[in-house]
Amino acid sequence: MNIDNYNFNGKKAIVRVDFNVPLDENGNITDDTRIRGALPTLEKILKDGGSLIIMSHMGKPKGKVNPKFSLSQIKDAVSKALGTEVKFAEDCANASEAAANLKPGEVLLLENLRFYPEEEGKPVGIEKTDAGYEDAKKEMKQRQKEFAKKLASYADVYVNDAFGTAHRKHASTAVIADYFDAQDKMLGYLMEKEVKAVDNILSDIKRPFTAIMGGSKVSTKIGIIENLMDKVDNLILCGGMTYTFAKAQGGKVGQSICEDDKLDLALDIMRKAKEKGVNLVLGTDCVAADSFSNDAKTQIVSCMDIPEGLEGLDAGPETRKAFRDAIKDAKTILWNGPAGVFEFDNFTAGSRAIADAIVEATDKGAFSLVGGGDSVACVNKFGLADQVSYVSTGGGALLEAIEGKVLPGVAAIKG
Ligand code: AMP
Repeated sequence: MNIDNYNFNGKKAIVRVDFNVPLDENGNITDDTRIRGALPTLEKILKDGGSLIIMSHMGKPKGKVNPKFSLSQIKDAVSKALGTEVKFAEDCANASEAAANLKPGEVLLLENLRFYPEEEGKPVGIEKTDAGYEDAKKEMKQRQKEFAKKLASYADVYVNDAFGTAHRKHASTAVIADYFDAQDKMLGYLMEKEVKAVDNILSDIKRPFTAIMGGSKVSTKIGIIENLMDKVDNLILCGGMTYTFAKAQGGKVGQSICEDDKLDLALDIMRKAKEKGVNLVLGTDCVAADSFSNDAKTQIVSCMDIPEGLEGLDAGPETRKAFRDAIKDAKTILWNGPAGVFEFDNFTAGSRAIADAIVEATDKGAFSLVGGGDSVACVNKFGLADQVSYVSTGGGALLEAIEGKVLPGVAAIKG
């Protein structure tokens, strides 16, 4: 079913959103992007005359009740965003009465789903290597089904609008869908937009296609790097990965972050790029710092010859120019992961050069997708979020989708 064609009038809708918003030490929301992202779906349901049961996780309470991760902290913000009162169910698995009492136009927010281990469906207190793990897993899967069935019993229709967790087969993101008929389950507007953006990148590639992968490690990005290798014209690998590549080629990287067990992998990536005719752009110079801090003393050095005691924390000017050259004329662009320790204001130049070049290319008609928490934080920090084509709310989910994996949250609805 498609959300636009569904009339929620008189229906109770249970909606999985991703309200895992960052909070400061006083429980105040520091970035409400995720709440705003879900509003079109929530507003459509209310406007149609439906009632709304909102469910989400927050943080990693590991299956236990923990007030630090209570969604009660965001109840008022949700209420303000929707412009209506929001009721709160303190126990998400015992909210039948509260759900039954909802009238059209009313809203109920359930407490953090992850206060129950059944949400994630991982057995508790037993390691994969322990005897009895398989039995524990089976038992937990059964409990997960019961938990999902309970959540499903609150509503007539299920909507999944939580792209950020769509790569997880959790009770509320996938298993619950089994308890609704095909015409009573659907993706929300945000999910639809995210899925379409990925589709744009994967199936409708306008060339040249430039992908920029940054962040701290090669190991966590290898799946997507290998997958992209078959698709892109230019591949920029930057951030902390730079130094693994430099060392693999015989460079001296000082104190820079480096995965010594991934040197062969780095060489293999270089070899594959050459074989496939991909223009691989790696850092050649860097901003090297004498400590991991914003106020460190810095100098520009070659990535292949970083003095002992210094560490590369950002891309140097020559590298930044190479980034721009590979991005500015691209017609399809994907950016995931910063080019330096952008959290320190003095080490944002590499990421800034990437963001600026993406904006330049987008102005000239490129489709640009920025995704993953840190790259999104970068474009927000630079005030450029509305100058790229699409900013994804998904980190892991986005990467898995681009790797070509079917997301369980989407599959549960689309089959
Ligand atoms: P990831 O979680 O792997 O996507 O990496 C994101 C993190 O990588 C950010 O917190 C950046 O500060 C960090 N990062 C980027 N470049 C470097 C670098 N040269 N050295 C250390 N950390 C880096």
